[in-house]
Amino acid sequence: MAQSRLNLAVAICAAVLISCGPTGSADAPPDPWNEAVAKTKPRPSKRARTSASPTPSNPSASPTASGAPAPSPGPHGSQQVTGSSAVALTFDDGPDPTWTPKVLALLRKHKVKATFCVVGIEVKRHPKLIGEIVRDGHTLCNHTWDHDLRLGKRSPGHIKANLARTNAAILSAVPGAQIPYFRQPGGMWTKRGVRVVRELDMVPLHWNVDPRDWTKPPARQISSFVKRETKKGDIVLLHDGGGNRTQTYRALHDVLPHLTRRFQLTPL
Ligand SMILES: [Zn+2]
Repeated sequence: MAQSRLNLAVAICAAVLISCGPTGSADAPPDPWNEAVAKTKPRPSKRARTSASPTPSNPSASPTASGAPAPSPGPHGSQQVTGSSAVALTFDDGPDPTWTPKVLALLRKHKVKATFCVVGIEVKRHPKLIGEIVRDGHTLCNHTWDHDLRLGKRSPGHIKANLARTNAAILSAVPGAQIPYFRQPGGMWTKRGVRVVRELDMVPLHWNVDPRDWTKPPARQISSFVKRETKKGDIVLLHDGGGNRTQTYRALHDVLPHLTRRFQLTPL
């Protein structure tokens, strides 16, 4: 399974002709969890905001009374803003035995509730971490069983089984846990995938602030991007799993005090 994911990641990297990271280093192999689709997006120096952002090029997108961007659908009708003035932090690809506890402790210290988009096979490996996420009052989001970037192109039955298997693993770890959201790996949404997600009474969850932390840029690059780009109502994409998250964790020490001074943070 791990080897096939690795092969998939390598194939995707070759397809887009962009490196999946520092492949020259033996201890830094291509990261199979990488959100491959984001490689085709602008570097984090350019903000990939929603078309509904109140920018001069889109003057019709006026802020709501709360000052938040008017809610607008993301790809294929997915949710990409919170719908209020609150900002949401989302952490993908865990639970990870090293990084999830560190992120949880930091969130606890800053009294921040977030949303964790978890991968089924990692849930099965580390069920206790799901308990800690729930106990701390964070929101759970299904991020597929196996981080299948192409899940949305598979048959509705296959998609449904993948999501159901992941939910079952979460519920096995924490009976009665609420799983209101689903996030497609890589943001590679399809109309079919979104339909299945809604049939399972989950909300397809996208984002609109992406510092591309999975590419492991320096912490200061992650934090400066998030601090500069995050506005009211935004959903920020970060990672607590899928590789060495040292830089994300360091960035959070700077990001959390900054955001909590300026925004209400919501677990969605
Ligand atoms: Zn992911």
